[in-house]
Amino acid sequence: MEQTFIMIKPDGVQRNLVGEIIGRFEKKGFTLKGLKLTSVDSAFAKKHYADLSAQPFFNKLVEYIVSGPVVAMVWEGRNVVATGRKMIGTTNPSESAPGTIRGDYAIDMGRNVIHGSDAVESAKKEIALWFPQGIAE
Ligand code: ATP
Ligand code: MG
Repeated sequence: MEQTFIMIKPDGVQRNLVGEIIGRFEKKGFTLKGLKLTSVDSAFAKKHYADLSAQPFFNKLVEYIVSGPVVAMVWEGRNVVATGRKMIGTTNPSESAPGTIRGDYAIDMGRNVIHGSDAVESAKKEIALWFPQGIAE
């Protein structure tokens, strides 16, 4: 069954949005397969966002992700990668549709509450990076 990697970013944790976000994925019908509250260092954040290393905002992005604890999760279900992205909303929250997580809870691109894998292949890589011990069946 398809799996995706979802991370509640430091602003989402600080603003007490963890329960709200988990509830949305649960109520949609997806299954929680992995969950941890953790802090990462900049070397790890750079690995997670390696594809963006050439972007002018890369250093700010890394600073943001290391600024506090994050909630790392694996969710499973039919089409969960693409549907998860729809539930999250567009990258720039000031343009995200109401009803999406970013559309409902954010206005700032640099503090957009949540990450979701953008493809099945990147989900596999991200799950292996964040849960190196593996995900139980
Ligand atoms: P994420 O990977 O965090 O789920 P995304 O897939 O919607 O977000 P990406 O293009 O992967 O968007 O960018 C990763 C993160 O980098 C964004 O969530 C945002 O916080 C930041 N970011 C992206 N583009 C910009 C930009 N033009 N200016 C500032 N920050 C940006
Ligand atoms: Mg992305």
